[in-house]
Amino acid sequence: MKYIDEYRDGDLAKGLASAIAREAKPDCRYHFMEFCGGHTHAIFRYGIQDLLPSNVRMIHGPGCPVCVLPMGRIDGAIHLAKQPGVILASYGDMLRVPGGGRESLLKAKALGADVRMIYSPSDAVALAKAHPDREVVFFAIGFETTTPPTALAIRQAHREGLSNFSVYCNHVLTPSAISSILEAPSVRDLGTVPLDGFIGPAHVSTVIGSQPYDYFAEEYRRPVVIAGFEPLDVLQAILMLIRQVNEGRFEVENEFTRAVTKEGNMKAKTLVAETFEMKRSFEWRGLGLVPYSALAIKRQWAQFDAEARFIVPEFKTEDHKACACGAILRGLKTPADCSLFATACTPEHPIGSCMVSAEGACAAYYTYGRQRRKS
Ligand code: SF4
Repeated sequence: MKYIDEYRDGDLAKGLASAIAREAKPDCRYHFMEFCGGHTHAIFRYGIQDLLPSNVRMIHGPGCPVCVLPMGRIDGAIHLAKQPGVILASYGDMLRVPGGGRESLLKAKALGADVRMIYSPSDAVALAKAHPDREVVFFAIGFETTTPPTALAIRQAHREGLSNFSVYCNHVLTPSAISSILEAPSVRDLGTVPLDGFIGPAHVSTVIGSQPYDYFAEEYRRPVVIAGFEPLDVLQAILMLIRQVNEGRFEVENEFTRAVTKEGNMKAKTLVAETFEMKRSFEWRGLGLVPYSALAIKRQWAQFDAEARFIVPEFKTEDHKACACGAILRGLKTPADCSLFATACTPEHPIGSCMVSAEGACAAYYTYGRQRRKS
């Protein structure tokens, strides 16, 4: 299969692993964060950590949009779903994430709320068309990759004159989160983890391009290599990061040239800029309040903004006391450090968000790396 098989070639993988072993200096330790849950998944699925020398460590970052959404926003969605006449539509993963009091959208559905699983924002628009007597709210989450389709859905609803469609907007921005990992005030409380470089997101970068990371690499003096999600992409990116560290460089390099350009997708970026504006701050699970890290619907589209149409209380919900999602999303702990991992918390009965989404670090550990659990 073109663009798949050639990036899973075992002989090439061995060659890259040998190059990494050759070029990683034995007296150096290398700590690289893969920001994106898709990379975490690839690392476990293909056993990439096992191909690396012991002084090259991968740290799992907060790049899973389901995992980073604070429980208060999930409670907000549950609140909306319970409003009379509302159909709440969202992606499958979101329906399973527990909010406060262990309630989830699926449980709310079991208790009578009209919650629908959809595959794209246009499905939610279709629901609004099919049910003109109901209010359809799309619970929107995701990084820069999923934002343009939400913008398109708002445009479509406007074009079709739908007055019963709105969006509960929870779209977040990648570069601000990467900065926060290195400099947020909570770093002082939680401690920090040494980070020598980042594997930059794949899908997000197809939209925003490689340029937004330039400032970040220069300001924080950390190399960034944007990489695809196949195993050879990840190995190649690690090799490129090791080379930069060895040479004292901190540049943005693009391993994923088959899909990512410097400028990104201008059409999608324009659409997003015309539909959304930055929120002053937004709470991320694990990172706390991160300035200018999320998007709100612009006032001119307020008729499609669920938070302008409904009263949504600000729920302040604490994570389960024993859940280590916050520390895991900062790279301070691994899933195996959590006392609930693979006991009380499993993909069938997730307690924290890192176990809900297939891209979450806990789900990836459980599915592919459970044997690494500490005894
Ligand atoms: S194993 Fe479950 S409870 Fe523990 S950190 Fe992961 S998601 Fe949270």
